[in-house]
Amino acid sequence: MLVMKFGGTSVGKPERMKKIAKLVTETPGQKVVVLSALSGTTNTLVAIGEHLLGNRAEAAEAEIDSLEKHYQNFVEELYQTENFKAIGREIVSRFFVFMRLLAAGQFDDKSYRELLAQGELISTEMFYQYLQEQKINARLLPALHFMSIDENEEPELEKIAGRLRPLIASLQHIDIIITQGYICRNHRNEIDNLKRGGSDYTASLIGAALQAEEIQIWTDIDGMHNNDPRVVNKTVPVSELTFDEASELAYFGAKILHPSTIVPAQKYNIPVRLKNTMDEKAPGTLISNKGTSGACKAVAAKDGITAINIKSSRMLMAYGFLRKVFEVFERYKTPIDMISTSEVAVSLTIDNTRYLNEITGELKKFGSIEVDTDQTIVCIVGQRISGQKGILERVFKALHDIPVRMVSAGGSANNISILIPSSFKKQALLALNEQLFGLI
Ligand code: ASP
Ligand code: MG
Repeated sequence: MLVMKFGGTSVGKPERMKKIAKLVTETPGQKVVVLSALSGTTNTLVAIGEHLLGNRAEAAEAEIDSLEKHYQNFVEELYQTENFKAIGREIVSRFFVFMRLLAAGQFDDKSYRELLAQGELISTEMFYQYLQEQKINARLLPALHFMSIDENEEPELEKIAGRLRPLIASLQHIDIIITQGYICRNHRNEIDNLKRGGSDYTASLIGAALQAEEIQIWTDIDGMHNNDPRVVNKTVPVSELTFDEASELAYFGAKILHPSTIVPAQKYNIPVRLKNTMDEKAPGTLISNKGTSGACKAVAAKDGITAINIKSSRMLMAYGFLRKVFEVFERYKTPIDMISTSEVAVSLTIDNTRYLNEITGELKKFGSIEVDTDQTIVCIVGQRISGQKGILERVFKALHDIPVRMVSAGGSANNISILIPSSFKKQALLALNEQLFGLI
C-alpha cells in the first residue's frame, strides 16, 4: 500500500489534475490518493468565513461568486465530453448552493468549519469524476467516515486505523482510493479540520493506520532544501533526512511539510518521500530512520517570534522558579520554543502572542520583564550535530556581524537554534549557506 498526497498547486489547474491522474494510474499497486483543495481555495474560504463572522454578507457574497466562476471555468477545461462537463457543472452548482445556504444561515464557528471543508470535498469529487471519464477504476472514500480528532484536537490514530482498515479491506480490487486531506470529525462528531496545511498530516495518519510501504507527499518543489529557497537563491535539495531532522525542519520554518506529519510516520517507521509534481524524475527527499551522524543537513528560519526575558534575583539558587514560570505559559496554552537560562534570568520565545499581555502581566510577579518582538529563530539541523566538534565555531563565524539574542544548543542533539532580529534573517541565512554548505 502506498499513500500519495497531492497539494493545492498539484491540483490547482486542470492540466495538473490530469497529470496527477496519469501519475497515479501509472504507479503500480494499490494506493490511497489524498488531495488538498485547489490552490487558493482554502484561503478564499477563510476570507468568506471571516466576512460572515464579521457580518459582512456582501463581501462574502462577492468572494463566493468569484470562487464559483473559477470552478465553472475549471470543469469546462477538465472534462472532455459533454456528458462529464454536465456532471462537473452539477458538482459545482451543488457545492455553491450549499455554501450559500451556510452563508445565509446562523453563521457560527461550526458553519465556518463546514465551509472550510468544502475545498477538499469538491476537489476530490472533481478528480474522481475525471477518472471516471477516463474509465479508470477508482473509488472515493470520504475522510469524514474515518478521520477523527479528540477533545484536545489530536488525531485518534487507533480509532482511525480501526475504521479505515476494514474499509480498505473491502476495496481490495480497487487500485486507486481517493480521499480528502485536511478534514475530519471532532469529538462532537462535527466537521472539523487538522489545521492549515493539514493534508500532509492526513496522508501520514493514513500511512500509519494502514502500515503503508511509503507515504509520498507531492508538492511543487523538489524536496526539502538545505536552506530557505524563498530567501536564499542558491539552495539544493537534501536527498535523505532522518525523521528527527525532518521534524525539526518542518517545525522551524521549512514550509514544505506540515510540522506534525512526521509523528505518525516515525511512530510506525514508515518512510516519507517528498516529490515534485512539476518534475517527477527529480529524486526529492526521503525521510526515514536511516541517517548519518554529524553532518549538517539544513538550516531553516521561523519568523514572528517574540522573546520574553524574566530577570529576578529570586531565581538565584532557588528551586521551583522555572516551574512557576512554565505554569503561566501552560495556563494560557502557549507553547515555548526556545529557552535559555542564566543564574538570575531566563529568556524564552513564543510564536503565539494571543495571550502575551496576560502572560507578561502574571510574570511581573516574578521579576522584571522585557519583551522583544519581530525575532527569527534560525535553526541548524543535522543528526547528532550539536555534539560535533567545531560546529559552533563555524556557526558563529558565519554570524559574526549579527546581534544574536539567544542560543540554544544541546537541547536536542539534532539542532542548534539561534534567535536574531528578523531584519538580520537574510544576512544570517546567506552567511550560513556559505559557511556550512559552501554555497555562495
Ligand atoms: N487545503 C488546506 C489548506 O490550504 C489543507 C492543505 O492544503 O493541506 O490549508
Ligand atoms: Mg501544504
